[in-house]
Amino acid sequence: MTKTILFNLTNSELEKFVTDMGQPKFRAKQISEWLSRGAPDFASMKNLPANLRNDLDACAQTLPLRVVRRLQSADGQTTKFLLELNDCEQIECVLMRTSYGNSVCVSSQAGCAMGCRFCASTLLGLKRNLTVNEIFAQILVAQWELRTDNFADRPIRPNGDANNNDVSHIVVMGTGEPLQNTQNVIGFIERANHEMGIGWRRITVSTCGIVPGIDELVAWGRPINLAISLHAPNDELRRKIMPIANKYSIREIMDAAWRFTDLHNRQLMIEYILLGDADGNPVNTTTECAEQLVEIVRGKNCMVNLIPWNAVSERDWTSPSGNAVHRFQDILIKNGVHTRIRRERGTDIGSACGQLRISG
Ligand code: SAH
Repeated sequence: MTKTILFNLTNSELEKFVTDMGQPKFRAKQISEWLSRGAPDFASMKNLPANLRNDLDACAQTLPLRVVRRLQSADGQTTKFLLELNDCEQIECVLMRTSYGNSVCVSSQAGCAMGCRFCASTLLGLKRNLTVNEIFAQILVAQWELRTDNFADRPIRPNGDANNNDVSHIVVMGTGEPLQNTQNVIGFIERANHEMGIGWRRITVSTCGIVPGIDELVAWGRPINLAISLHAPNDELRRKIMPIANKYSIREIMDAAWRFTDLHNRQLMIEYILLGDADGNPVNTTTECAEQLVEIVRGKNCMVNLIPWNAVSERDWTSPSGNAVHRFQDILIKNGVHTRIRRERGTDIGSACGQLRISG
């Protein structure tokens, strides 16, 4: 018998479900409170009678996914969850405890069709889009972890506004291309904002540059953050590392991105992986590349996030030396471009950018 996923029911459907089990209506309210905290099972629902918990366990499940593996980085600040969906597809999400709050990186698809040549998430292709509930449940998994985690020695965060035990930031930067699943990503963000009170400005969607999808975000009009995975400053080079560059030019992508950020005067984030070839020669980190990148962002409200490439065993790129990274960054800085080098989190558990993958 397939179990009913209670998280997928409306309030009135949940009421009917419990009253059909011969239970009073108020049980539905109790259960739904547990669901909104991310309870992974009925045994956690401490205010329900034991026999009801057992009965529920026999015919229902809480969330539309379950944690099959949980990896903690050595510094205790990053947790990666391998999650299994009801059709047995697996996805990953990552919780990062940072100085500004608790950030969750969610996946928007099982697998990815984009084929970026430096990325692990796309190696097995796209399986399917995730539903709104499947994306939302990833946040709840992280929320549950934060509430049940007792690392007493973890430092209290300096900016007291984010409760240590709450998810405060969301990045849609896990596996998948969010703008191939735009309506579900929008539905998810609306819920995260309404139901968990996460501000629009604390939510970031990252895309490899699907122009019609960016325009859907423009039409939606919420002041979230947009990140463009650019990775090359001209179309010819970009086509060598990102197949999507055959469909949309940098010009078209950037025009759409500025349309979005101009709506609310938001700062655009540009992600730029620093790549060397197998022999260690620069691919996109030459002086010429830096100068072309400066031209793309000149005078715009934008931040260039430089990401040293994280090793993926199936790909034979290399990561440039620290000096090469700084030389590249210096050219941007000299030209007035706001830039930083992304601090990698969770590399030791394979949860840094582009390392998310199903490793079994
Ligand atoms: N499809 C979306 C979101 C997922 S990828 C996008 O393209 O933006 C999230 C970010 O990780 C992207 O900027 C992606 O280019 C980057 N990334 C992928 N593989 C990487 C790797 N091996 N090292 C560093 N960053 C990587």
